[in-house]
Amino acid sequence: MLINRQDLNFLLYNVFNAMELTQYSQYKEHDQATFDGVINTANHIAQTYFAPHNSKADEHEPQFDGKSVSTIPEVKEAWQHYAKSGLLNASQHFKDGGMQLPTLINSACCGLFTSANPSTAGYTFLTTAAANVINAFGSEDQKSRFLPGMYNGRFAGTMALTEPDVGSSLGDLSTKAIPQSDGSYHLKGQKMFISGGDQDITENIVHLVLARIEGAVDGVKGISLFITPKYLVNEEGELGERNDVKLAGLLHKMGYRGTTSTVLNFGEDDHCSAYLIGEEGKGLSYMFKMMNEARIGVGLGAAMIGYRGYLESLEYAKNRPQGRKPSQKEKDSKPINIIEHADVKRMLLAQKSYVEGSLALCLFASRLMDEFEKGDSLETEERQDSGILLDLLTPIVKSFPSYYGVKANDLAIQVLAGSGYIREYPVEQCYRDNRLNPIHEGTHGIQSLDLLGRKLWMNNGKGLQLLMSRVQTTLKHCQEHESLSLLLKAYQQKINIFSKTTMTLGQNLQNGKVDETLANSALYLDMMGKIVVAWLWLEMSDKAIRTFSSSESEDDQKFLAGKLQACKYFIEWELGEISSQSELLCEFNSTCADMEADWF
Ligand SMILES: Cc1cc2nc3c(=O)[nH]c(=O)nc-3n(C[C@H](O)[C@H](O)[C@H](O)COP(=O)(O)OP(=O)(O)OC[C@H]3O[C@@H](n4cnc5c(N)ncnc54)[C@H](O)[C@@H]3O)c2cc1C
Repeated sequence: MLINRQDLNFLLYNVFNAMELTQYSQYKEHDQATFDGVINTANHIAQTYFAPHNSKADEHEPQFDGKSVSTIPEVKEAWQHYAKSGLLNASQHFKDGGMQLPTLINSACCGLFTSANPSTAGYTFLTTAAANVINAFGSEDQKSRFLPGMYNGRFAGTMALTEPDVGSSLGDLSTKAIPQSDGSYHLKGQKMFISGGDQDITENIVHLVLARIEGAVDGVKGISLFITPKYLVNEEGELGERNDVKLAGLLHKMGYRGTTSTVLNFGEDDHCSAYLIGEEGKGLSYMFKMMNEARIGVGLGAAMIGYRGYLESLEYAKNRPQGRKPSQKEKDSKPINIIEHADVKRMLLAQKSYVEGSLALCLFASRLMDEFEKGDSLETEERQDSGILLDLLTPIVKSFPSYYGVKANDLAIQVLAGSGYIREYPVEQCYRDNRLNPIHEGTHGIQSLDLLGRKLWMNNGKGLQLLMSRVQTTLKHCQEHESLSLLLKAYQQKINIFSKTTMTLGQNLQNGKVDETLANSALYLDMMGKIVVAWLWLEMSDKAIRTFSSSESEDDQKFLAGKLQACKYFIEWELGEISSQSELLCEFNSTCADMEADWF
């Protein structure tokens, strides 16, 4: 099973009210039947063409013989089914061959593919994201040359930012773009870690490359974005000669092995043709369009790999007889299934709280994106507010699922114990695959600096006010349920601690003590992530009580009880840490920062 479908439906239709989106003109042709239809199709393709080769692609990494790359044939077959389904351009207009699908529903579909096979799904997501950047910022000529191929699956896309010496600090990148007389550019430089940078799945690959035009200023303001195809493409979209983009080699990874990771040389022979997207010097801001979508995508991917591991370990625990309750002393007593042991329940409940909470967070972000980008029936201010809140939450949407998804996979291995450690069971691969997520698309540390150093204070702190106002609305709704009263009290206490901490850090930043304040930013990221996810757990609990408490279905009652118990777990067991984190943050604890390099 890729996901608990009852959970997905509950989140889409009861918690995030997907049907409300059909009030926006972009989505007005849709109804629940079309939403369910697309999700069912995605589920079918994911189950039939992606899931079956997940472990084979892990065992048989792509190979490079010095001339070309080969991947196992199942990857191309899955790609073709995905492309044929129209999901590569699901969010585009009907007139451009798209489905005008809301981001919320599209995210649900993407989640199914990541759960089935994150490596093969990686090629599809990168292509859609790259095409969407060209669509948003490219010239008409660039759109007509490249987009049809990218949206119909003939071409794939990549994002090429990282260089061997430049990862987190993109302002220092050195790939050069040399202007040519015809208005195009020649690129020269090397990029590293580029996912999907070469493969044998598509006819062509369209790289979006960050480079510095000769003579441009230093830093991020000197960075521009270029379309750099593997094969040149004429006005009719037909392939021309091979461009001077060469694969220097494949990298070998602990997870995500089915996706090629490449080192690419641009302009080794001085004729790497590239085409500027939009204006000079705006490359990073264009790329951020892609990266913000990609960051929600990374969070969602992490949540879903975590989710998959949770479901696998749950199934195992229900069927693995081992041991007895501590009180069971009879000699002839039968072993119980491990799901009956309190400690195994702890590990399953922790996973459930992390992964269902993470999925809710990513779907909430997707819904905010819909409101901001397409919400033409909303008041202008409401629409802008959704954008501001999404901006604030993006580092958390990327980081919480990435950190806790890996923790969930770690616990899944522990539930299976010996069987979890061997490759015959899928959970060790989930762990290896998921371990990438706190690293790429801005490391965990970089996200925490972005949150505490920048995002919190943008728009005079309006994002946080908007978040707190949504939190207060949920708390008010929850007050109607007696069963939630103790949890509400505990949560309110932690909100007070969080607010006090934020204020203390903000004042210190205002006093110019930047290094001191940001030294423990990762603690703050974790703290705020927990506050946000606990809020979503309360929101889910409120909606679950309203939706299911009067249902006569036994399944609904179990679903409701499970949601309430996971909410209880998250608030009682996970939120507790916030108090000690707040102490360290508010005293500007300098233990880590004071450690000298040569004391290690
Ligand atoms: C499998 C995989 C796929 C990838 N795919 C792509 C891709 O498709 N396209 C692409 O362009 N890139 C890709 N990347 C690159 C990825 O985005 C980078 O690895 C990431 O940005 C970090 O850069 P780095 O590895 O050079 O680490 P560094 O930037 O060297 O960071 C090393 C450590 O130092 C910390 N650090 C760095 N700077 C600071 C700072 N200012 N303050 C505090 N801590 C700091 C980091 O948090 C990290 O822990 C991929 C990487 C991997 C592993």
